[in-house]
Amino acid sequence: MAPVRFQDAIMTGMARDGGLLLPEHIPSVTDRLAAWRDLSYEDLAFEVMRLFADDLPEADLRDLINRSYATFRHPDVTPIRCVDGIHVLELFHGPTLAFKDVALQFLGNCFEYVLERRHCQLNVLAATSGDTGSAAISGLRGRRNIRIFVMHPHGRVSPIQERQMTSVLDDNVFNLAVEGTFDDCQRIMKTLFADLDFKDGYELGTVNSINWARVLAQIVYYFFGAFRVMRLTGASRVQIAVPTGNFGDIFAGYVAHRMGLPVSRLVLATNENDILARFFTTGDYSQGPVRATISPSMDIQVASNFERYLYYRVEQDPARLSALMKSFAVSGRLGLPPEGSRMDDTIVAGTANTVHTLETIREFHARHGYLLDPHTAVGVQVAREFHRPGEPMICLATAHPAKFGQAIIDATGQDLAHHPVLDALANLPTRCTLLPADDTAVREFMQQHIPR
Ligand SMILES: *Cc1c(COP(=O)(O)O)cnc(C)c1O
Repeated sequence: MAPVRFQDAIMTGMARDGGLLLPEHIPSVTDRLAAWRDLSYEDLAFEVMRLFADDLPEADLRDLINRSYATFRHPDVTPIRCVDGIHVLELFHGPTLAFKDVALQFLGNCFEYVLERRHCQLNVLAATSGDTGSAAISGLRGRRNIRIFVMHPHGRVSPIQERQMTSVLDDNVFNLAVEGTFDDCQRIMKTLFADLDFKDGYELGTVNSINWARVLAQIVYYFFGAFRVMRLTGASRVQIAVPTGNFGDIFAGYVAHRMGLPVSRLVLATNENDILARFFTTGDYSQGPVRATISPSMDIQVASNFERYLYYRVEQDPARLSALMKSFAVSGRLGLPPEGSRMDDTIVAGTANTVHTLETIREFHARHGYLLDPHTAVGVQVAREFHRPGEPMICLATAHPAKFGQAIIDATGQDLAHHPVLDALANLPTRCTLLPADDTAVREFMQQHIPR
C-alpha cells in the first residue's frame, strides 16, 4: 500500500485495504530523553508529535496542541498524585472528566484545521455505550465544517453520561437515543458506513479509537508521567499499569516504550472481559461473550487496536498479519508462540473481578482518603500483584470517580464522589431525538440535518 501522510491518516481513520494505519517507522528518542525531562506537558506534546506529524507546519502544530490542552482544569494537564507508594497519573482533568478527552480534544482541533484548508466538511457518526460519546461531543462541539451525530442506546447509559451528552446544545451536535441496545447502534453504524453512496455523498467520518491521532495524543502522557516520577523518585525506569478495553491506551504506551522510554513493564489490566489478559498469560486470544461490569468502558471482547500490536509480533510482515486477522475473523480465535519465556518482553497482564475492584476502592478510600473510579481500580488492583520494590509503579487513572458514583456507593456505602461540573448538569436543558433501532431512520435523520 502507498504511504499516507499524517493529515490524510487522521481524516481517513482506517487504511483503504481495511487494515489499521501505523507510522512507517517508530523513531528512537533515547538521545533526547534528558532534554525532554523537564518540559511542560504542551512542550513535550510538541516534541513527541512533530516526529509523526511531519506534514503540519510547526507553528500550527504548537497552536493545535495549546488550544487542545487549554480546556484542561489542571496546569500539568495530566498530574501525578502519589498514594500508598503508587503514582497515580490522573488523566481525567479534561472537559468530560475522562481520559478520552486527551485524544478527542486534539482530534477535534485537527479535524477543524484540515477541513478548513481543504474546504471540506465532515459528518461524524458515532455509537457510544457511555464515555466516548461525551468526549467526542466535547471535542467537536461548535466546530466549523463539522457535524456530529451520536447514537446511544435509549435508557441504557447512566443518567450522568446521558446528561453529559444531551446538555450540549450547539447547532452541530445531534444526540440520537436509539430504541435498542449498544449492539443495535453499532449495527446501524456498520450498515451506514457500508452504504458507500451515502457515506461518500454525505462525507461521513468517525472518531473511533483506531484513529492514529488518538494513539499519538496518548503517547505524550506516558513520557510526561514517567519523567515526573523519575524526577520525584530518582529511579531510572518505571512500570506502568493500564486498565484496558480496546488496547488503544496501552498501545500508546507500547509505542512510547519502542521509542525508548525507560519502561521496564507495562501491566495490562482487564475486568472480567479478559481476552487480552488471557492472551498475554497463555497466548490464546479467543473471543468470549461480553459481560456487563462496573467498569463498562472496558466491557469489550474484540480489542480493535490489538491488530496494531500484532504487527510488531509478526516482524512487521503485513502478509502474516493479514492472514492472522482473517483467520480470527472466521474462527474468533488466534494463537501466537511466546517470546522467550513470556508472551511479551514488556507487557504482563492480570484481571481484577468486581469483588476485588470494589474492595480496592473501599480500602484506598479508607486508608488514604483517595477515591478510585472503577476502571482505575482495576488497574491498581492488578498493579499491586506486579509490584517490585525499588521500581516505581505508575497507575493510569482513566476517569474521575464522580462519573461512576454508583460504584463508589457500592464500594464505600457512601455517596462520596461528586464533581461540580457533573452536579451542575442536573439543571441544564437538554436536546435529544428518539429514533427506532433502524438504519433507515438514522439515515433519514442525517439527510434532513445535513444541508446539501
Ligand atoms: C475507554 C476507557 C478505558 C479503556 O481504554 P482503551 O483505550 O479502550 O483500552 C478505560 N477507562 C475508561 C474510563 C475509559 O473511558
